[in-house]
Amino acid sequence: MLAEHTEGLFCPAGGFHIDPWGAVERAVITHAHGDHARPGSRAYLCASPSKPLLERRLGSDATIESLPYGERLALGNISLSFHPAGHILGSAQVRIEGPQGVSVVSGDYKRASDPTCTLFEVVPCDTFVTESTFGLPIYRWDATETVITEILEWWEHNARHSMASLLFCYTIGKAQRLLAELARVTDRPVLVHGMMSASIEAYRSAGIPMLQTIPLIDQPRGTSFAGELVLAPLSARGTPWMRRLGDHSDAFASGLMRVRGVRRQRAYDRGFVISDHADWPAILQTITESGAGRVLATHGHAEPLAKFLAEQGYETGTIRTAWEGEAGSDEE
Ligand SMILES: [Zn+2]
Ligand SMILES: [Zn+2]
Repeated sequence: MLAEHTEGLFCPAGGFHIDPWGAVERAVITHAHGDHARPGSRAYLCASPSKPLLERRLGSDATIESLPYGERLALGNISLSFHPAGHILGSAQVRIEGPQGVSVVSGDYKRASDPTCTLFEVVPCDTFVTESTFGLPIYRWDATETVITEILEWWEHNARHSMASLLFCYTIGKAQRLLAELARVTDRPVLVHGMMSASIEAYRSAGIPMLQTIPLIDQPRGTSFAGELVLAPLSARGTPWMRRLGDHSDAFASGLMRVRGVRRQRAYDRGFVISDHADWPAILQTITESGAGRVLATHGHAEPLAKFLAEQGYETGTIRTAWEGEAGSDEE
């Protein structure tokens, strides 16, 4: 039911590619991150809440259709539907039902609750294509509340020392999740790098409650940022923009911060382990709950995950992607 093409994963019966990296006739998109939604295809189809983010990424010329979660669309002799993946706003698993059974392509997903998107839905299937960005046993996430408390304490500690707190995070998804989670524990506004404003606005338009944000660029020269929390994309690190902050502590919020070597190598003052991807136990839980007998791993640590699953008796394989790992991939 699914074949690997040079442009990406292809469903011959339905005549569409899923998250192709090349230009195709019909692209079905799991979510609006740059490693899944590439420009140049003739027509796009996504889950309804993903559409505003996809329009922003692909531009107003792109032909984008959308389908509400759970609604079925007949294409050739298969039926296609989107189901919540819990990764970012509008993220979806693609369910394909045909004469050979049901296949589900997860896209990126997580199982932890997230106030910015619909909770992951378990979709029973015969073949499950799972992401494996953090598909190694070392990856285990703490409860989100614990990490949010750590961030708040870091911010308050820096404020007591008249320092700004500069928190790097991905522009789409992570930034909004942090702003929504922090809104549960504080009502202080947060300063944001200009590159984040548009995606934050897209989430606000979708009705997601988040802390008030202030574009840092609008602040007059000479403004002190002591005591403030500032969100910025990784690409701002080391740029002259940072000089405006004055004395500050920096941190990165990512699942990658679970790895001591990465923390040390990148030399952030702090690393907050919070990810929009499933950790190792969540990947295995999801595979079990799907009921699939055949599991294909993609996007990250596909080989070790497939090997582990083969040892557990699953029929397995890997699917190549043009993008590997979280680093850089979800960054604009
Ligand atoms: Zn993603
Ligand atoms: Zn991804």
